[in-house]
Amino acid sequence: MALTRIPSTSHEPLLWEYAESKESTEIVEIDDKYGLYIDGEFRAAKSKSYFPTLNPATEEPLSQVAEAGEADVNDAVAAARTAYEETWGPMSGAERAKHIFRIARMIQERSRELAVLETLDGGKPIKESRDIDLPLVAGHFFYYAGWADKLEYAFPGIKPKPLGVAGQVIPWNFPMLMLAWKVAPALAAGNTVVLKPAETTPLSALAFARLTQEAGLPPGVLNVVTGAGKTGSFVVGHDDVDKVAFTGSTAVGKLIQKELAGTSKKLTLELGGKGAHIVFEDAPLDQAVEGVINGIFFNQGHVCCAGSRLFVEESIHDRFVDKLKRRLNTLRVGDPMDKNTDIGAINSKAQLDRINELVESGRSEGAEIFQPDSELPKRGFYFRPTLFTGVSQSHRIAQEEIFGPVLSILSFRTPEEAVEKANNTPYGLSAGIWTSKGSRILWMADRMRAGVVWANTFNKFDPASPFGGYKESGFGREGGRHGLLAYMDWSEG
Ligand code: NDP
Repeated sequence: MALTRIPSTSHEPLLWEYAESKESTEIVEIDDKYGLYIDGEFRAAKSKSYFPTLNPATEEPLSQVAEAGEADVNDAVAAARTAYEETWGPMSGAERAKHIFRIARMIQERSRELAVLETLDGGKPIKESRDIDLPLVAGHFFYYAGWADKLEYAFPGIKPKPLGVAGQVIPWNFPMLMLAWKVAPALAAGNTVVLKPAETTPLSALAFARLTQEAGLPPGVLNVVTGAGKTGSFVVGHDDVDKVAFTGSTAVGKLIQKELAGTSKKLTLELGGKGAHIVFEDAPLDQAVEGVINGIFFNQGHVCCAGSRLFVEESIHDRFVDKLKRRLNTLRVGDPMDKNTDIGAINSKAQLDRINELVESGRSEGAEIFQPDSELPKRGFYFRPTLFTGVSQSHRIAQEEIFGPVLSILSFRTPEEAVEKANNTPYGLSAGIWTSKGSRILWMADRMRAGVVWANTFNKFDPASPFGGYKESGFGREGGRHGLLAYMDWSEG
C-alpha cells in the first residue's frame, strides 16, 4: 500500500496520507438495459416498465432494469415449474452436483469482475466484496454442490424430497451472498428458483443469471425477476410457489407471514437484528476494540447481525470508549472502489435518510454523539462512523435497527445484568462475548437469546455453519445441513 508524504514545516511532525489505490472498473461490462431472466433467456418485461439502478458512491445511473409485473412473474413461475417437472427434478443428484460445481468454479474465475460489480451497484468497499463476499459466495456453491448427491446421508432416517418451486426475495446489503445462501441449497436439494433481488442492487443477480446461462444450467431452473417490493409480493403470493424464503425487514417479514398463514407454502424468514456485543473487563481489550469495530462498521453497518449495541463492563467503560474513539479516527470513509477504504457508500438515499433520522433521535433523547471529522465526498451517499455514549435502554437507538455505521454504548456491572440487558430486545439474531474466561463464555452463550453467539470474535461466517434468528429476527436456518432442510420435504420417514 503506497503512502504519500504530505510536506510539513520543520517544526511539525511528518504527516503521511494514503495514496489512492483504485480498483479498475474496466473488467466489468454493464449493459445499458437489462431484461428479465426467464426460462434460460433475457427477455423484455411484459410490463414494459424499467427503473434505473444507481452507483450510490456517485449517484450516477449505471443501467436501466426491467420491472417484472404480475404477468412476468407468472411466466417465471411457469418456467420454474416446467423445469422442476421435466429436467431438474428428475435429474440425479450427481448430475445436479456437476452443474452446481461448474457454477461455483465460474464464480471463482470471475470473482474480481463480480466483486467490482457488487461494489459499483451497492457501495460496499471493494476490499470487502473482493475478500469476504465473493469467496463466501463461491464457498456456498461448492459446499452445497457437495451435498447434492448425498442428501440421504445428510439426514439419516428420513427420505428427503425437494419441495418444488422456491420463490426467493433478497435484500440489498449482501446481494450476491444472499443469492448464494438461497439459490445454492435450493438447487442442491432439487428445487427450481424464482429470485427477486432488491431494487437498488439488481446487477450482480443479473450477472449471475448470465453466468448460469453460460454454464449450461437447464432453462427455467433459475429465473431472475427484477423489480421493487410489488414484484416481490407477486413472487411470494403466487399460488404455484411451494416455498418462500425471504431476507429483509421484520415489517415486511410479518406481512409475508400473515399472507402465507393457512397455505401449504413452506416459509423461512431472516429478518432484522440488534446484536449485543458484550465486553468484560478481563477481555483482551485491543482485540476487542477490533472486534467491536468490525462488528458494527463492516459493510457500513448494513448487516442484520451487526453488533450495534455495545455493553461494556463499567470498570473499563471509559478506557474502552477512549480506545474506540482513537480507532474511529483512523477509519477511512470514502470511495468504495479505493482499496484503502474502510467505510464505503450508504446503499441508497432512503437508507441515508433513515440513518439520519435515527441518529437525530439519539441526540434529542439525550445520548452523547462522537464522530471523527473525516471529510466526506461531495457526491454520493455517505455517513461518518458514529458512537453514542450515555445511551439508555429505552432510547430508540438502543431498540431499533439503524442498519448503518452507528454504535450505541451502554454499560453493565454483573454478568446477570449483561444478559438481562442484551436480551432486552424484540430481536434475537446475534451476540458477541469478549472475556478471557472460557467458563464465562459458556455461561453467557447459554443465556443469550440469539441464533448466533460469537466468542472473542465477530461476524465470522462459514458455508457449513447454520445462521438464523429467534423472536422477531425470524425462523429457519440458512447454511450448513440445516440450510438444506429448508428446501426439502422431510415429513415422510
Ligand atoms: P425490505 O424488507 O423492504 O426489503 C427486502 C426485500 O423485500 C427487497 O427485495 C424488497 O424489494 C422486498 N420487498 C419489499 N416489500 C415486499 C413485499 N410486500 N413483499 C415481498 N417482497 C417485498 O427492506 P428495505 O430495503 O426497505 O430496508 C428497510 C429496513 O429493513 C432497513 O433499514 C433495515 O433495518 C432492514 N433490513 C434488514 C435486512 C436484513 O438482512 N435483516 C436487509 C435489508 C433491510 P425492494 O428492495 O425492491 O423494495
